[in-house]
Parts: sequence; C-alpha cells; structure tokens
Amino acid sequence: MIKKLLSFSLFYCFIISFGQVYKPIDTADYAQRKDFLKNFSVTNENLIKKNRTDYSGKTGSELSKFYKEFEKDFEKKVKNKDFIFNSVFDAKVKNLIDRLKKNNPQIPQNLKILIAKDNTPNAYCFADGTFVINMGLFNWLNNDDQLASVISHELGHKISEHTLKTLIGIVDQDQMDRVVVQNIKLNKENRNQQAFDVLKSRIYKKGAENRKQEMQADSLGYVLFKNSDFKKEEFINTLKRLEDFDTISPRELKVETYKKYFNLPKQEFKDKWLKKEDFSLYNYDNFKEKLNKDSLKSHPEIALRITYLKKIFPELKAEVKDEKASESYAALEKIARMETLPNFFHSEDYGIGIYSSLQFLQDGEEESYYKKWLGKCFAKIYEARKNYNLNRYLDRVEPKNQSESYQQFLNFMWNLSLDEIKNISDYYQTEKS
Ligand SMILES: [Zn+2]
Repeated sequence: MIKKLLSFSLFYCFIISFGQVYKPIDTADYAQRKDFLKNFSVTNENLIKKNRTDYSGKTGSELSKFYKEFEKDFEKKVKNKDFIFNSVFDAKVKNLIDRLKKNNPQIPQNLKILIAKDNTPNAYCFADGTFVINMGLFNWLNNDDQLASVISHELGHKISEHTLKTLIGIVDQDQMDRVVVQNIKLNKENRNQQAFDVLKSRIYKKGAENRKQEMQADSLGYVLFKNSDFKKEEFINTLKRLEDFDTISPRELKVETYKKYFNLPKQEFKDKWLKKEDFSLYNYDNFKEKLNKDSLKSHPEIALRITYLKKIFPELKAEVKDEKASESYAALEKIARMETLPNFFHSEDYGIGIYSSLQFLQDGEEESYYKKWLGKCFAKIYEARKNYNLNRYLDRVEPKNQSESYQQFLNFMWNLSLDEIKNISDYYQTEKS
C-alpha cells in the first residue's frame, strides 16, 4: 500500500511539475514562413507597380527602390524567425480588427496579422496591409480595448498613408521631415539611406517620430475606435500605459536576490561582486534629477498627444480607471509574459535576459522556468566573455542613462571572472528544481 501510495505521489509530482513548466511557443514553422514570404513578395511587387503608375518619373522609381530595399531587410527578419505564424495571439487581433471594421468601412479589407517576438509594446501596419503586432503589447497593455486602441492608431497611420507621404517628401526634398533630417545635409547618395531609415524607424520604432503625424494618427484612430463598441476612455489609458513603458523594467533588484541566486554550493557569494565602478570624476550635477529616478523612461511626446486628444475630444477629459482584462485577454497576457525570456534570448539580449530573469525570480514567479533561462543566458555570456565580445551582449555602465538598479547589475556582471561565470552557467543549466 505504501509502495503504491509512493508511486502514485511520485506520478502526481511528475504531473504537477510537468504541468507547471511552460513550453515556449514553437517557431518551427518553415512552410508558413515560406508561404508568407512568397505572398509578401507578390504584394510588394504590386505596390511598386502601383507607385510607378501613381508617381511618374523620379518619384516613382525612387519609391520602388525603397520598397525593394525594405523587402530584402524584412525577408531577413522573417527568415531569422523574428515573427511567429498562426499563434494563439492571431485570433484575438483578428477579432479586434473585425470589431473595428464593423462601423468603419475605410479600414482596408486585406489586413494580414503577424506577431513579432519582441517585448516592446509596438505595432505597425505595412503599406501592403501586413499588420505587425509585437508580443510586448499583450504583456504591457491591460485589456482588449487598449490593444484595440493601438491597432486603431496604426490604422490611422495606414489610412493617412503617412509613411508613403514622408518618403515622397524625401524624394521631392521640398517638405522634408525635420525630425528625421535634423542636421544632416542631404545629398543624392545619402538620401536613399535616409529614406530607408525612415521606413525602418517607422516600422521598428527606433527613431524619433513625426509629432504631427502621431497626432493625426491619434485623432483618426480615436474616431475609428469610438465608432466601435470599445470603452472610449481606454484610448487615453492606453497612451498613459505606453508612457510608463521602459525598455528595461525599472523593478529594483535587491542585494538579497543576488545573494540568494549566486551563493552556490561550489561557489560562495562574494561581496566584491557588487562593487561599483568609481565615477567620482564624473560630473553628476548635470543630471542629478535624472539619476535620482528609478526609471529613465522618456516619452515626453505622449503627454502632448494626450493633451491634444483631450482638447479636440472633450469627452476624453474625465479620468477613468483601466478596465479589468477579459479572461481571454488575461490568458494571452500570461503567455506573452512567459515569452519575455524566449524573446530576449532570440534577440540575443542575454544581459537583459539575466536581469529580467532575476526580477521574475525575486517576484517569486515560476522559479524553475526562470532558473532555466538564467542558465541559458549565462551560458551565452560565458561564450561571449571567452571570445572577447561580451560588449555585444552586455551593456557598459552609463550612469546618466541607466537606473541605479541596472547599473548595480552591470557592475556585478562585469565583476565576475570567466570561471565564476562558467560555474554559474553550469549550476543553472544542470540544476534540477
Ligand atoms: Zn504612430
């Protein structure tokens, strides 16, 4: 009986622990990727043809160059598995777009959804109708209505053809985008690069955005949103939520956390690992205010966008609390959260991956899962350190651009010796928890 009970409980333990370990989304979707690229190439070709008809001469031919260049770059990303196909997220996005379409005939019919393995809460709609939604949106936003707000804003850009207009502006050189061009004097050679950079920064949200176009996309987006059955105040809540986003989570990592996870059976924790670089020669006075903050996020443009929206749509003036997530949204939010580490690992952000794993561990979340990712990231850091290219995967300490907690983390990482890194990596890669 005891034996039976024992084997039963062993079995039970197995089920429990097996059930608890989250399995990252499978990206072995070769056939779908191939199909997607084939279709993308066809629609891009059509787009180029259309541009050549719509814009004669130089404008048309320059535009086709940009779009061809972009296709090459985008193809690389698709092949690199930066996107996942037919994931659990697709149905939700499709459902939200359908709800928006109901009362808004101006929304294009041919939208295709693509989910990016990217933790930043961004979205983008290509000229051909491919709608890229970063997984980070599911993790960062709080409910269906907020995700629909972001989609509406992107549709605002798409319907207004902002990207195309900016590109034409560059070709014609008369209505140049000041934000983009800034101090660079354009000549013929770098104009191409400039246009391509505009396309890329639009899409990957890396550069400064054109404020006027952002405000236009907001107001058109809000009209689409309001025409549907979403809760209108959530449009403002979404912007506030995005304003709070920080590329590196500002959650502070406590000294106890380092001690808990790096005091190993074969390698005791050393206090000297936490020693900080001496920046006493640095003039801190210039950025005292910034340094005192935990978080160094800076999205000053969002506050302006909120003010502008409230001015033209007075019904948005009231402050309303965020709605609770629907069950289906909460489930996707959880998956997106669990994909945070696979996403960092995919983009080779191993340093941030370790920092983030430690934050999750400190919060007591899914311990064995995050210990596993800690080991995987440390193994990569070990390889990099051995090959003298750690700089590529681990930031250097920059007092004026980083929170104190992140600086402490970087000091810790750079203080570790090659052997110490190896021991940590081995321990967490073989640890059975
Ligand atoms: Zn925008």
